[in-house]
Amino acid sequence: MDMDLKAIEQMVEQVLREIQSEQMINVTEQRKEGYGLFSTIEEAIEASEKAQKKLLYTGMADRQKYVDVIRKTVLNKENLELISRLAVEETEIGCYEHKLIKNRLAAEKTPGTEDLISEAVTGDNGLTLIEYCPFGVIGAITPTTNPTETIINNSISMIAGGNTVLFSPHPRAKKVSRLLVKMLNKALIEAGAPSDLISMVEEPSLENTEKMISNPKVRLLVATGGPSIVKKVLSSGKKAIGAGAGNPPVVVDETADIKKAAKDIVDGCSFDNNVPCIAEKEVFAVDSICDHLIQYMKDNGAYLMTDRQQIEELKALITTEKGGPKTSFVGKSAVYILDQLGVKVPDSVRVIIMEVPKDDLFVQEEMMMPILPIVRVSDVDTAIEYAYEAEQGNRHTAIMHSQNVEKLSKMAKILETTIFVKNAPSFAGIGAGGEGHTTFTIAGPTGEGLTSARSFCRKRKCVLADAFSIR
Ligand code: NAD
Repeated sequence: MDMDLKAIEQMVEQVLREIQSEQMINVTEQRKEGYGLFSTIEEAIEASEKAQKKLLYTGMADRQKYVDVIRKTVLNKENLELISRLAVEETEIGCYEHKLIKNRLAAEKTPGTEDLISEAVTGDNGLTLIEYCPFGVIGAITPTTNPTETIINNSISMIAGGNTVLFSPHPRAKKVSRLLVKMLNKALIEAGAPSDLISMVEEPSLENTEKMISNPKVRLLVATGGPSIVKKVLSSGKKAIGAGAGNPPVVVDETADIKKAAKDIVDGCSFDNNVPCIAEKEVFAVDSICDHLIQYMKDNGAYLMTDRQQIEELKALITTEKGGPKTSFVGKSAVYILDQLGVKVPDSVRVIIMEVPKDDLFVQEEMMMPILPIVRVSDVDTAIEYAYEAEQGNRHTAIMHSQNVEKLSKMAKILETTIFVKNAPSFAGIGAGGEGHTTFTIAGPTGEGLTSARSFCRKRKCVLADAFSIR
């Protein structure tokens, strides 16, 4: 009998341990409901709408508290490591160490409620207030390339703005998105927030995204991704913010600090295996410094490919018949890509470089892998002209290494990109080693630029006639 009791005790302990560990990690396979996860898009929208009504009646201090809870939850070491690791494991895109940096950046440098600066106009006719107010439920579509970063960044900005957010992640990032949505909701509820401030359907699909886009209760759409989804939300008939593709060119002229430029370019290009939409995708270098630039890039982990046939083999390996990147190579490391080509290199190799003509596919297409074509040009004006063409009118991001103020201004003016980084790696443009806040939704097409809380708000006017001007 004693033995039986002991055995039962052990069994109970074992079950409790399993429950606890499931609660702690409970990462991949979630319950059917709860903590922001819903079986159907209709249920998710309804819950999000209810949550937004509650949020509307909380104070600004509460909203800031919720923002701080999101920051703290993501910055918890275990959580940060878990979401970064799972993002790479599930999507097979990018690199764990860089995901850690990007997730931390999103948690630390996305502005909160302080971004919502009210305007006041006073005069003989009284006082008028203009305030940033919520849209309501926001439908936010997120990319495979920054699955967790975008959820963290958008959640902070949108909740600070008084909105709730329904995410539509890429199906290939559904597990890590579910984990993060659940993790954030749990922490928010524990801090006294209404439930479902952040939500998603358990099984994201294109069909569910369509339903979300067309549902009138979703007041604002935000798409972070390629051209097709941006076009889709912009054709929805409702207010939409589009953060689309880029193909950032780099120009290096003869006045630049070539050694630094080479390191900055390799650092920026190889960051998270080149998936960030802001990452260096092609270089235009003035002939007189091009050899030096290439040499210094090699010193910093670039593998130079010179054999034409090998370059063509590489192209055949990583591109589709249509000329775009093969999904299976997006976000893979230079070492992996070379290995698939039968070339063994040390782990220190971070990017693959080669000289190509300006019309080469590698120059004109957004590849999102650490392959960096270099175009040799006679002078800086030609470099700027070619950079303009390669950017494809995205007006997203461009980088220039130069000390010539006139040419720096010329490039900024001609390319008209949302982000223009001078003498630094591209990521300085989103607050990593550069001033200013971060965002993972860079809204070039619709003009909000580096989005923050106020981008997701409506401006409303409140007029009090003939009083409260106290001058
Ligand atoms: P993607 O366009 O394939 O997918 C983005 C999201 O849109 C996913 O959730 C996907 O499921 C959804 N989607 C795509 N087409 C759809 C359709 N027809 N109907 C419904 N949903 C659809 O992009 P991706 O490969 O995940 O991400 C990489 C792209 O995103 C690159 O072009 C990159 O430059 C861009 N991007 C831009 C920014 C920015 O801030 N501007 C940030 C990150 C990524």
